[in-house]
Parts: sequence; C-alpha cells; structure tokens
Amino acid sequence: MDSLLSGENLKRHQNFTVAAITLLSSSSPKPVSGPLSATFGSASGFPELKFFVEPEGQHSIHFDLRATQLFRLGEVQSLCVSEGSESTKEKIYSKGVTIQFKEEEESSSFHGAFEQWKKHVVIEGSDKPNGTLSSSKSKFDDKIEASSAKMYFHYYGQLLHQQNMLQDYVRTGSYYAAVIENQADFAGRVVVDVGAGSGILSLFAAQAGAKHVYAVEASEMADYAQKLIAGNPILAQRITVIKGKVEDVELPEKADILISEPMGTLLINERMLESYVIARDRFLVPNGKMFPTVGRIHMAPFSDEYLYVEIANKALFWQQQNYYGVDLTALHGTAFQGYFSQPVVDAFDPRLLVAPAVSHVINFTTVKEEDLYEIDIPLKFTASVGTRIHGLACWFDVLFNGSTVQRWLTTAPGAPTTHWYQLRCVLSQPIYVMPGQEISGHLHMIAHSAQSYTINLTLSAKMWGPGADQGGILQTSSCRLDLKEPYYRMSQPQPYSSTQDPQPNQLLQSQDLHLPSLDEDGSDFIQQPSNDSSVQIQ
Ligand code: SAH
Repeated sequence: MDSLLSGENLKRHQNFTVAAITLLSSSSPKPVSGPLSATFGSASGFPELKFFVEPEGQHSIHFDLRATQLFRLGEVQSLCVSEGSESTKEKIYSKGVTIQFKEEEESSSFHGAFEQWKKHVVIEGSDKPNGTLSSSKSKFDDKIEASSAKMYFHYYGQLLHQQNMLQDYVRTGSYYAAVIENQADFAGRVVVDVGAGSGILSLFAAQAGAKHVYAVEASEMADYAQKLIAGNPILAQRITVIKGKVEDVELPEKADILISEPMGTLLINERMLESYVIARDRFLVPNGKMFPTVGRIHMAPFSDEYLYVEIANKALFWQQQNYYGVDLTALHGTAFQGYFSQPVVDAFDPRLLVAPAVSHVINFTTVKEEDLYEIDIPLKFTASVGTRIHGLACWFDVLFNGSTVQRWLTTAPGAPTTHWYQLRCVLSQPIYVMPGQEISGHLHMIAHSAQSYTINLTLSAKMWGPGADQGGILQTSSCRLDLKEPYYRMSQPQPYSSTQDPQPNQLLQSQDLHLPSLDEDGSDFIQQPSNDSSVQIQ
C-alpha cells in the first residue's frame, strides 16, 4: 500500500505557494512572478505537479512526476525538469522551470512533498542512483508477454468489439439489473470500474447514484469512454476516466465497491480475473463489495458423435497419398492432434450432457491472485446413460451478491445464449460407459503468459464386462488444449428426433433460472443458480 493514499493520509492533492517561476525554453526564459500555486496530485492516474501561471488557473504547466527531477540550486531556488510528458498530446521532449521560494522552509517542504508524491506512484519501480527513472515494470508486465498485451488492448481499443459485448443483452442486461436493483450498494458510494471499456458500467453505477466512479481502462477505448461519458453530462460530473492498467494507476481515494466484467471463455480466459483481484487489493476498502462477487465453473461429460466426427474429419485431408503427386500422410497424426487441441466454443443442446455437472467456485472477494495461476479441479460423475463420452462440457456463471437482490448471470447450455457460448474439451479417444457407472478425472489449467491457459483433461472409467471387476482395468483418455486457440463453431443446438424431444422449447427458457426438470433431456444436469439468498460461497 502506498503511503500518501492510505488511512488518514488520504489526499487528493497538496498545494504550495511559490514566489515565482521562470519557464526555461530554448528561446528565452520567461519569468512569471507570483505568488503562484503549485499543486501535486494524481487525479489523472499518475503523479503530477501543476503550476498555475494565471490566477484563475486558465494556464497551467504540467509535470508528469514519473519523468521529472527536482534539483536544489540554492536555499530558496530549485530547478524542476522533465524528460517530456506522455500525458499531454503535444510532443514535448523536455521542459523545465526554475522555482523561487519565499523562504527556505517552504523550499524544504516542497522538496519533501515532491519525493513523496513521486515515490508512491512509481509503481514497483525504483530510482536509479543518478535519479533517472528505471523502466518500472508492473505486475501485469511481469506476467504477460508484451506482444500478447499489445494485441489484447488493440482488440479492446476497437469500438466494434465493445459493441459486440454491449449487444449481448443477457450480459449487459444482467449487469444493469444487478446495479439498478441494488441501488443501496451504489448510492453515495465511491466505485471503481475495473476495465471500463466503453464506460457502460460506470454510467450504470452513476445512474444508481454513485458519489464518484473511477473508470479505469488500459486500452485506447479510454478516450472513447471519455467521449461517451461526456455525452451524458448529468452522469459525467461523477465519473473520472483513468487511462492505464489497474495494476499501475493510482486513485485518489479508496472504493466502497468494484464493478467489472472480467470474464473470458470458461470464466478464466484472458486472465483478467487476476487484474480484478489486484484491483481489489489495491483500491477496495476492507469488506468492500465486488460486482460480480463469485464465479463458478460448471463441468459435465457429454456425448456428441457429430462433433467428434466433424473434428476427426478435419484431419482427413492429410490422409491423401496423392495430393498433386505428394503423399501427405506423414502429417496426419500431427494434424489430428492439432484439431483435438482446440477447445470447441459453441452453444450446445443440454441433452448432450450425460451426468449432472460438478462445479468449482471462485470467490472474488477472497481468492488470492496466485491461486488463479494454476487451477486443478478433481472430477467425479455418475453416468446416467450407456454411451460414448466424447469429452467435458464447461460453462460458468457469476453472482452479484447485492444487499437487496442476488442476481446470477449464467452462460449455461439451454439458457439464453451469450457471447461466451459454452466450451467443450473433446477427447480424441472417446470412453464407453454404462448407466450408473462412475467417471473420474481431472481438469488441470495452468496460466500462460499469452493471457490464457493450457488445459489438461483426463477422464477415466472402469472397463465394463467380464473380468473388469476383478482387474479394475481403467479406460483413460486425456487431452491437452490451449484455451487461447478455440475453435469457434457457433452451431445452433443440435436438433433431436421428436420422439426424444417432448417439449423442445422448454430448453430455451428465459434465464430465469427455473428450468423445468426434464430427466430425459439433460436440463437436470445443469446446476442452476439458486435464488436462495443463503447461497453457499466458499
Ligand atoms: N466494462 C466494459 C468492458 C468489459 S471488457 C463492459 O462491461 O462493457 C474488459 C475491458 O477491460 C477491456 O476494455 C480491456 O481493455 C480492459 N482491461 C483488461 N485488463 C485490464 C487491466 N489490467 N487494466 C485496465 N483495463 C483492463
């Protein structure tokens, strides 16, 4: 925790009065006599020093403290120089002022404040002996490859991708409802929007009466968010957009509540949950609220012959022995493995599930950031039918644990489709089960520096038939997948024959979470979020 912004020391800015300054420019130095106001602050997300040259503050000189040095020229005279400011759009490569203080005491306290403001916001960086800044690497940069981060923030910097999320009405509508139904959690509170994108959640929070919202966004979208927010002037007064990573920026005050949409495919893709947790540790008051509060990954084995054949067939191309006179078969095995290493993203029919789902809970209010680096989920299912199991189907939901209303946002199969769809890990070697048979295994996910996870799935079932009981022979099938490289299939739910499908439309119920219990159609296998307010969160 930084020193200036903690506890009673909480300060938005610090003011000094100086006797005069002289602007150093390449042409001729311009003296400005005072008294002048010099203000340290970090409202724009980084520490800065502003000299107000005109009394009304119409003209000011800004120094980004991360790249600024202060030298003592005499008892009451100092020199402040900057390598240039990234915060301004003009290209200023260096600027400087000499500062004249009225008395030595003022000069000393100014120097003290300068050091303090500069130190507390140079995040995890350290000053080199000669006073120049080291290239301070943040927690984000330590974990994530620069090339991945560049592509990631480029993607989110484009309005079309933000629009895609905004047009997921299940998603955006659930957030809106969660905020508006829980106004008590926002009214008069300080809110941080973690990864604000277009700024939509900040605007919702302001609509719900937030005292102030800090909208933190690392991509270029921050500029558009600023524009969108300015276009809603009544709300804009209570929103500050801060461009930067939540790992790096400083905020002038602590938040009572965080709001964020950090969920990727399978909940954890993009590794933004880690940023959400870092934001919690950096900005949230003790026992502050988090919207969403809890996430759950749900998993169940599925049987889908069509999907299996479709994937296996993709590699058939490489079985040609005479492709323009070339034998391709040497690469068939590699291609086959390659196709099975892609998790499949689409909306599937819940009747493909062959056992009730198990779930893994992640409580965002307590989970440690490091706990998200490696997630190992033991699996145990009881097959409800005799079939060939082709892999593991996964989806997630999140809970907004509001003081007034608890609301779930679910991406379950059979519920209204979201832009996350569902995810399936397909085994290249299916396993055979009989009704009532136990299936066990592991889903092991390891984070990698390209903002995603390597997934290792193992499923086992005892062999059925004579001799199997004594020997306990296991059929085991495993696969390794890269969550970063999904196969977007986006099929509609597979049609089923009408004899199996007494009330097909009931599968596509509203997200009201009260799906009818149809034993034979698989909807029983989806652990539906409970509306019980005493929901168990670990
Ligand atoms: N809150 C918006 C956008 C959600 S998408 C909405 O609900 O519509 C996630 C956003 O978080 C993206 O715009 C992305 O650029 C931003 N983001 C991801 N990681 C971040 C980080 N570490 N710091 C700041 N912003 C981040």
